[in-house]
Amino acid sequence: MKFTTTFLHLLLIFATDAVYGSHNYATVATNGQPFPWAERRLPDNIFPVHYNLLIHPNLTTLKFTGSVKIEVDVTHNTNTVILHSKHLQIVKASIEDEMDDSSLGVALQVLEYPPHEQIALLSANTLLAGKKYFVYLSYAANLSEGFHGFYKSTYPSKGGETRILASTHFEPTSARMAFPCFDEPAFKANYSITIRRGAEHIALSNMPKVKTVHLGDGLYEDHFDISVRMSTYLVAFIVCDFKSVSKMTSTGVKISVYAVPDKWNQTHYALEAAVKLLEFYEKYFNIYYPLPKQDLVAIPDFQLGAMENWGLTTYRETSLLFDPQTSSVSDKLWVTLVIGHELAHQWFGNLVTMEWWNDIWLNEGFARYMEIVSVEATYPELQADDYLLGTCFAAIGRDSMNSSRPITTAAESPTEINEMFDTVSYEKGACILHMLRSYLSKDVFQSGIVRYLRKYSYRNAKNEDLWNSMANTCSDEDFTSGEFCYSSNQAFKNRYKYGGEHLDLKTMMNTWTLQKGIPLVIVDQQDNIVRIRQERFLRGIFPTDPVWPSLQEGYLWHIPLTYITSNSRNIQRHLLETKSGVIDLRGNVSWIKFNTDMNGYYIVHYEGDGWDKIIKLLKENHTLLSHKDRTHLIHNAFQLVSAGKLSLDRALDLLLYLRFETHNVPLLQGLGYLETIFRMIEKAGNPDVAQNLKNYILKYFQDVIDKQTWSDEGSISDRRLRSEVLNLACDFDHPMSVKKANELFKEWVRSNGTLSLPTDVIMMVYSVGAKSAEGWDFLLEKYKISLSGAEQSKILSALINTKDVDKLLRLLHMGMKEDTIRMQDLPSAIYSVAINPVGHSLAWNFVKKYWNELVEKFELGSNSIRTIIIGTTSHFSSKEDLNEVKMFFESIKEHSSQLRATQMCLENIEKNIRWLERNLETLKTWLLKNIMGF
Ligand SMILES: [Zn+2]
Repeated sequence: MKFTTTFLHLLLIFATDAVYGSHNYATVATNGQPFPWAERRLPDNIFPVHYNLLIHPNLTTLKFTGSVKIEVDVTHNTNTVILHSKHLQIVKASIEDEMDDSSLGVALQVLEYPPHEQIALLSANTLLAGKKYFVYLSYAANLSEGFHGFYKSTYPSKGGETRILASTHFEPTSARMAFPCFDEPAFKANYSITIRRGAEHIALSNMPKVKTVHLGDGLYEDHFDISVRMSTYLVAFIVCDFKSVSKMTSTGVKISVYAVPDKWNQTHYALEAAVKLLEFYEKYFNIYYPLPKQDLVAIPDFQLGAMENWGLTTYRETSLLFDPQTSSVSDKLWVTLVIGHELAHQWFGNLVTMEWWNDIWLNEGFARYMEIVSVEATYPELQADDYLLGTCFAAIGRDSMNSSRPITTAAESPTEINEMFDTVSYEKGACILHMLRSYLSKDVFQSGIVRYLRKYSYRNAKNEDLWNSMANTCSDEDFTSGEFCYSSNQAFKNRYKYGGEHLDLKTMMNTWTLQKGIPLVIVDQQDNIVRIRQERFLRGIFPTDPVWPSLQEGYLWHIPLTYITSNSRNIQRHLLETKSGVIDLRGNVSWIKFNTDMNGYYIVHYEGDGWDKIIKLLKENHTLLSHKDRTHLIHNAFQLVSAGKLSLDRALDLLLYLRFETHNVPLLQGLGYLETIFRMIEKAGNPDVAQNLKNYILKYFQDVIDKQTWSDEGSISDRRLRSEVLNLACDFDHPMSVKKANELFKEWVRSNGTLSLPTDVIMMVYSVGAKSAEGWDFLLEKYKISLSGAEQSKILSALINTKDVDKLLRLLHMGMKEDTIRMQDLPSAIYSVAINPVGHSLAWNFVKKYWNELVEKFELGSNSIRTIIIGTTSHFSSKEDLNEVKMFFESIKEHSSQLRATQMCLENIEKNIRWLERNLETLKTWLLKNIMGF
């Protein structure tokens, strides 16, 4: 059965009576009158029930007009209606009550308070509690120039003319830029949307179109069906001239993929994937997708990866379109994961929404996790499961810094809310859900989330609602039939595996969501006795530092430990709820490995001769451990070096087994660390050490490099390895690889760019080709005319690989002026320029110079601004750099003091300085010793 009914739940959400009605007349409206509401959050005296919204964009003047009639319920008597509005020019406002059948009420005075993006409608008559009213507003505005609200996007047609479209992006707080509304996630309502457009365009919205009315003068009005009950940030509409492909799912949902007409032929893979993934979710969640259709639309200008608007998901072109000629296997994985992510949101986020932005991880952590679960189930050949390790490593990278934050963090202003969309909400959220799933078992986890989704459908939820649903695996039907709900056999079985007495999930999970950071589990094994203790894991801060005790105080996690030993590779379990504990292994055990397959969110350190045993084990028989365990050991060892717990030469010794490694994941993890160290040393001005490290990498991995073919053959794993290894080899000027890439590039140029290259090696062929002036120019011309986003992003990376500083600056200016390079691609271009050894100070100076323009375009607190700040400073490793960055942030204090990213970036530079101080000499000595070994 499908849900299309209207749910009219009265939500009693935020404020207590004490907050309600608080009048602080210090807030002054734009006209000088007192503004009657001082809080950022709206009062709880009025609730929207239904919006009737009419929007008319003019794609020539780039303006739009709108009107909205909002049916509201009043719960406390009041004379004011406070709602959100940003950059809208209100033309008229009125209020009618249910009985009033005159078409419009008396015009009301409207006060504006821009700091809180609110307006107040002042009514002479008191609006009475328990009654229903209709708020009517008409307004006008410009289409937004950035990527939020109702914004303009353009693309060139084949004939070279510029086509314009208008699309929306509202999450988290930009619905108020398109229509006056109660713009908070808990104010759910139904929407009836009408869009006016010209004959040359189509209009799309969350629901299917029910009729089109011809208004004359080439103007049409599309009426869309009434929506399900949803939050403002999920409303969406688009006016464009796109083409689409469609297909029905087995349960009768019409899936369509839209793109600009010339890219129509790149939509087919997304259509197939969306059908499969939607069918998967309907089964997994055991809840039908409640709308009759799902449109997936590739928007030419899009700041992020994609957006989950209900029934009308929007994507960056590279997140949705797949071109068999130029999209690599990694591009395919990316497109599939993004679709899996947005479709997961149709349940997690859209059907059940977090009560407030402080719990955005309930949306994003779940979607990030479910994208992996769903793609693993529907496209096993893509090996999405391996991607989870990288996800958790990214989370740890952020969370092991003191500037991290708890998953659930207070966020009130739009900037603070924007900053919640970060690695902690997404990646850490996904990793702790993965830990919970392996703790509870797959079945219990699944039935817990089904229960949660059913119970809170069309409503809002908090953290603890999830834990309660998870801990209690019975369905509502079980409750009514009087069954005992902790009795799920599976839950019991797992509980006993941990030796726990009760399943207190809330207490356990609060240690992961309400305190920041990640635990370090220190293991001391003496024969069969294993002593374990936990502390907070911190990189770049050591126990000898005076701040250490204060940074450790009060931290304690409930850690579901898993381990295997030399005696048994069956997973053993132990729940560590205290600072320390002892495990008696029984029998003679030579080695032990904790955090099996990295199913838990913690780092492990093996004290005494623990690491020696592991290094020996990997050298002698690495296949006794799974590839995930091997990857996890490599990761842990290098993390421990940054924390001062393990010396660098031990971590490097551990990598020596990689000579025998055949699995791409641990191999790439090890190579990745060596490459990162190389980049840092190179930029820190140690050319001799850098050269030695480069020589070492090329010699040590020579067999792996030589084995690669310049083709698209093999499994996904082979193909990903090929791309990464050959890319590194070309970057390091490996003669054979550079020669091959040059040959292919010449052939490609001779064919005038029509020759179809193997997709896995296109990147290196372009990069090597871009080293010559003619090659660079040829690629830039090709960039301008390419219809494939996948190809364009490969070309842009190649162009940025040049060692010519003037060319790099030219590219950045092109992005800034939106000449050839789209503004949406500027943050990643700045990031790539910063990675280039000749470009890092250029990128930083560019950011300083254009800071105000960048903030205006991408919004303070956004992921793009974070990419720009972190990306341009992540390689800084000297005290001079640190002072320089500090001085810049001081000069933009108004912005920087509001941002977490600035703290993160300073802490990161301090960490780099300490890393070099501690490890440079060790690295030098180790390299000399080991290069001799060849
Ligand atoms: Zn998401």
